[in-house]
Amino acid sequence: MAEPAKPYLSVIIPVFNEEESLPGLGEELAGVLKGLDKPGEVILVDDGSTDSSYAGIQALVKRYPGFKGVRLGRNVGQTAALSAGIAQAQGEIIGMLDADRQNDPRDIPMLLARFGEGYDVVSGWRKDRQDPGLTRILPSRIANALISWITGVHLHDYGCTLKLYRAVYLKSVRLYGEMHRFIPAFAGFLGARIAEVPVNHRPRTQGVSKYGLGRTFKVVLDLITVKFMDAYMAKPIYLFGGSGLAMSGAGLLMAAYTLHRKFHDHVFVKDQPLFQVSIFFLLAGLQLLLLGLVAEILIRVYFDIKDKPPYFIRETVGFN
Ligand code: UDP
Ligand code: MG
Repeated sequence: MAEPAKPYLSVIIPVFNEEESLPGLGEELAGVLKGLDKPGEVILVDDGSTDSSYAGIQALVKRYPGFKGVRLGRNVGQTAALSAGIAQAQGEIIGMLDADRQNDPRDIPMLLARFGEGYDVVSGWRKDRQDPGLTRILPSRIANALISWITGVHLHDYGCTLKLYRAVYLKSVRLYGEMHRFIPAFAGFLGARIAEVPVNHRPRTQGVSKYGLGRTFKVVLDLITVKFMDAYMAKPIYLFGGSGLAMSGAGLLMAAYTLHRKFHDHVFVKDQPLFQVSIFFLLAGLQLLLLGLVAEILIRVYFDIKDKPPYFIRETVGFN
């Protein structure tokens, strides 16, 4: 038998207790793969399901060419499940899709076509989203505005899982926590060109959502980390040292003013509460400065251990 061709497109699907959705999802995806003019693969990652999802995945792999399954030891969450899929993916383009059938796999060829225009990330946008408004759409609107503003990578729909990426961008990021939604921002930090394309969205009719409102808070906390990683990862001293210098400077000014009042206006220092504030500012500022130095050392260790340079190479030419 001939070796199957190396896939051009890899579609990664995290699966957590989605036994009802799998057969229909598999059928739709198989149809999409068949219609592509380049070879594709589908990688279903079972994230420690407690229902019969893995048996469902095995059945799909047996039935449809190009389908592959990965089973994780236990439930580690959507982000880690996606990372596991990314590590296995062979395609030049990697797409992601939820297993719950809310996204429509038939949008994939349209998204894929945009790479021909030179884009590196093609991001699905659920323009006509079929979810409860108050508990899902509203928090998501706010989150999207916030993420766009803070990261400077403007998207209407970070939460839409249906997105396609040039593989180099995915292979060079390491995903923690709930960070998969920030992948477009990470790619943007690396200089990726991003297109946003409206996609079909359907109500969830099988299985249940695995998340509640609590996710919103995690997203906001993750956002702070993401911002730090973008702006200060390579130079933490600029953040800590900068605020430390500002605080120490303010503390010095306040101290000088209280001394001036003492010697010029003969107001005792003990009668000037500002003096205590100035001491607080000086100490806090000094602490921040030292923290910045420690962070600088850590960051050097980090880049050394990971052997990861603080830059990103998009492609090379002329090498072997
Ligand atoms: N998922 C997962 N591990 C988890 C939770 C969810 O792999 O711990 C998968 C889930 O099966 C689905 C996708 O992640 O394919 C998104 O989950 P869900 O549809 O419940 O999230 P929502 O669309 O409601 O935000
Ligand atoms: Mg969903």
